[in-house]
Amino acid sequence: MAFKVIKENVLKDNDRVAKMVREDLKKNKVLMINVIASPGAGKTLFLEKAGMSLKNAGISFEILTGDCFTSRDAERLDAAGLPVVQINTGNACHIDAGLVKKALEEVRLDEKDLIIIENVGNLVCPAEFDVGEDFKVAFLSTTEGHDKPIKYPLLVKISNLAIINKIDLLQYVDFDMSFFEECIHKVNSALQIMKISSKTGDGIDNFVGWIKDKIKMKKENVE
Ligand code: MG
Ligand code: ZN
Repeated sequence: MAFKVIKENVLKDNDRVAKMVREDLKKNKVLMINVIASPGAGKTLFLEKAGMSLKNAGISFEILTGDCFTSRDAERLDAAGLPVVQINTGNACHIDAGLVKKALEEVRLDEKDLIIIENVGNLVCPAEFDVGEDFKVAFLSTTEGHDKPIKYPLLVKISNLAIINKIDLLQYVDFDMSFFEECIHKVNSALQIMKISSKTGDGIDNFVGWIKDKIKMKKENVE
């Protein structure tokens, strides 16, 4: 019982900060997405590829990349010429609104169209924390198995886009795409599923198109 109260307080505190972050983003008309995946799903390679396309499309963005201790992802993204802020969470297995707020102090929001959060690799608690984002993206891959959507239903339920990565490996892994789609829609019947391969670049354009639409909506203040 005592633990339940503590958790409620933590989430309440988080939500208060998330609201401040959201207001700041709204004022500056900046879109923010929160990419949630398990370790090894291929988030960083995806962001390298998508980041290059976004850059070529003239979109001004910043990546906030989360990791417990290392700066490996930030180093990779920086080496690819992409603007990045590293968030180290220490022992926390998720990014909370306070960490996002702190990271955004390093970013000129008035010069940005888009903030992309690469959350800590974890399908469970990142889904519980509102960080002030407009959209959560459930990022899964074919090597993880096709039943993950029903094993991690909260993530699927609260996400606005599902990406299935590593479709280039479909012929080598035991992954049933129609069962996967069925699992997704059992939890969230309206959820859009995007099939991509960060390795070959397949489907990256679709994601960039989706982002462009959402940025336009945010700038025009259309809900
Ligand atoms: Mg990564
Ligand atoms: Zn956590």
